[in-house]
Amino acid sequence: MATGCRVLAGNGHSDYIWGHAALRDPDGRGVWMKSSGIGFEETTPDDVVLVDFDGSVLAGRGRPHREWPIHTEVLRARPDVHAVVHSHPPHAIALGAAEAPLLPVSHAATLFAPGPLPRFDRTANLILTPELGVEVARALGERSALLLVNHGIVVAAADLPTAVVHAILLEDACRQQLLTAALGGARRWSSDEEALAKRETLWPPSNLRAMWAYLVRQLDQPSSSTAANSSPAAAAAASSGSASAANVPRP
Ligand SMILES: [Zn+2]
Repeated sequence: MATGCRVLAGNGHSDYIWGHAALRDPDGRGVWMKSSGIGFEETTPDDVVLVDFDGSVLAGRGRPHREWPIHTEVLRARPDVHAVVHSHPPHAIALGAAEAPLLPVSHAATLFAPGPLPRFDRTANLILTPELGVEVARALGERSALLLVNHGIVVAAADLPTAVVHAILLEDACRQQLLTAALGGARRWSSDEEALAKRETLWPPSNLRAMWAYLVRQLDQPSSSTAANSSPAAAAAASSGSASAANVPRP
């Protein structure tokens, strides 16, 4: 969990202390979530909390993010899913706000082909109730990723490395499309047939695992730090140790 959170932080998903990931408890008790009040880049193996399907804390350190129903309801609806990521990557949020469909203008986008990327737009507010969690899970359907319009993304996968890599590639795909928009918009993109063929060529599980291994190796490289977690303000906050997890919002 800690490694997955740190990889997300270094690759476009850092949003101060917001965003979370969760893993299905192997004994069926609920989900292990990243604790609230800390950034992805700060997460250690101890910063996880076990929440049951009704939101009760069963074990772990800290408090869960209040959006635990995203994780519990996606996992309840999808027996094939064991890991869920929810984050606020800026390019994906921009694409969602523009109501623009994600087009296969890049390699990354073909991972989410074919068909339009699912969207959830009943509310842009936090997903704080099981009822809303159920609706998010319903909007996700059998897909791997969902745009929460004006809010963020939800990614679901069989394991955390796959979920993390999907989240990163989704943000890459959205960023590429926004770059294209700056040049007047896409004039060419892959057909469904080509996108599917590219997906098979580019994104077999072995490639996703290799990308994950690369991202983990990069954690040890000084250049892997993000603008957010290398900013003076973030560095000062991290070094002061004065922020109290008990007193910060828990989205
Ligand atoms: Zn959120």
